[in-house]
Amino acid sequence: MPDFSIGVDLGGTNLRIAAVSREGKFLERIDLEAKAVRGPDHVINDMCAAVLRLTEKHRGDGQFLGAGMGIPGLVDIESGTVRKSANLPGWSNYPVRAEIEKRLGVPVFIDNDGKCAALGEKWMGAGRGVATMGMLTLGTGIGGAIVLGDEIFRGTNEMAGEFGHVPIERDGLPCGCGGYGCSEKYASASALIRVAHEAIASGRAPALAQAASANPELKAKVVYDLAMQGDEVSRNIFHKFGKDLGFLLAGLLNSLDLDMYVIGGGVVSAWDAFAPSMFAEIRARALIYVTKPKTQEGNVADGGAQDVSVVTKALLGSDAGLYGAARAPLMSEKKMGEKP
Ligand SMILES: [Zn+2]
Repeated sequence: MPDFSIGVDLGGTNLRIAAVSREGKFLERIDLEAKAVRGPDHVINDMCAAVLRLTEKHRGDGQFLGAGMGIPGLVDIESGTVRKSANLPGWSNYPVRAEIEKRLGVPVFIDNDGKCAALGEKWMGAGRGVATMGMLTLGTGIGGAIVLGDEIFRGTNEMAGEFGHVPIERDGLPCGCGGYGCSEKYASASALIRVAHEAIASGRAPALAQAASANPELKAKVVYDLAMQGDEVSRNIFHKFGKDLGFLLAGLLNSLDLDMYVIGGGVVSAWDAFAPSMFAEIRARALIYVTKPKTQEGNVADGGAQDVSVVTKALLGSDAGLYGAARAPLMSEKKMGEKP
């Protein structure tokens, strides 16, 4: 058995833990209920007990190098605390890293969950082998990150990669950040659902209305299925969604000039429905020619597009955050071992 680290992905309801080898192989994975409402002490006790069970099991054959944890919210990576999290009540200013280190006795790293997902895709997913990568995760909002080499580029105020708050409509919808017309009001998964509900309310979307009455919790998958069956309204919703996402990406391509832009989040399973209008918008606006990679994996090294920036979908799904979290202790070990 090889040396390994532990990756933890903490959500509002789920706590997922994986032992990952230095080479990026999943050795074992545990899924627990997060019980976030019971507070950080409770969650961290459960989590550390599970981590210790895992490490006991794998320690005999390889060294346990450390643990990393992705947290949904604003994370202060220097102090190892959570500054603000909508999904984790009572976690603000709790010394997360110190409490975990005390229980596990190894170096612990904490970071925002979206940043961990980006590191994961860069290490073992779509961005494997490229030098620079941007990641956009389409969910309730749009999470993002810029990865240069093996590191997240954080910016002066740790706001680099907040692609969800790039304005794409001058007089657009108000956003939770205080601005107007932010991209996540148009190109996130929740924006897609909002537009579908608006179409239903307008009375001009009979197929969607029928689907929504059968299942009031309207999901992107339902809109996608209708679009694939040829429903004009659903097709248009994805068409506009793709255009807005492409508009955002064209701006990123022109300003950042990274090797690859990876799109993640559950809504990428509807890629066929929005990618054509997304690529059309990018081609019309980006200075650098962009293409889909020819290989399904999207690896530049696999003989796909070699001289252009690539826009492609994420490959690791919800495991990306676990890979990225597990990566941090391995990277830090490498850095400490470097000759000055
Ligand atoms: Zn905003």
